[in-house]
Amino acid sequence: MRVLKYGNRKANDVVYDISTPEKLLAAYLLMFNLLNEEWEVYIDLYEDEFSLCKPCADGHHEYCRGGCNGSEECPCDATPECKNINHRTRAKVAETNAQRTWFKLAEEGDARAARSLIRARRGNEYEEVTECDFYDPIDPLTVKR
Ligand SMILES: [Zn+2]
Ligand SMILES: [Zn+2]
Repeated sequence: MRVLKYGNRKANDVVYDISTPEKLLAAYLLMFNLLNEEWEVYIDLYEDEFSLCKPCADGHHEYCRGGCNGSEECPCDATPECKNINHRTRAKVAETNAQRTWFKLAEEGDARAARSLIRARRGNEYEEVTECDFYDPIDPLTVKR
């Protein structure tokens, strides 16, 4: 049987049965609510943390130092140079925007969006959600040896 498991160093593990498509979606939605309300892991999605560097904001793009080499993270794509310098930051912005879309949908009860969001972020601390197998130890037909 497949299960969805979550735990972190401050709490006991939680396990949901995901053996049917219906249970799978219900489990991801419950998991989303747990992560969102109990552990508040999505605060980075509440607002956009990226803004243009000061030179770009003032229209002087040639002075953009960008997120890769400079100390500032800048998502500017106004010029080819800005695009080139800032490609890593812009990729992060795109990822954050996709997650923010899933987050808003999940808040409205969209289980598929909750699943996409959780899967995209399960490498983060406090977001380590895994799907795994659950065995009956005395059932020779199902037990893994
Ligand atoms: Zn720029
Ligand atoms: Zn810039």
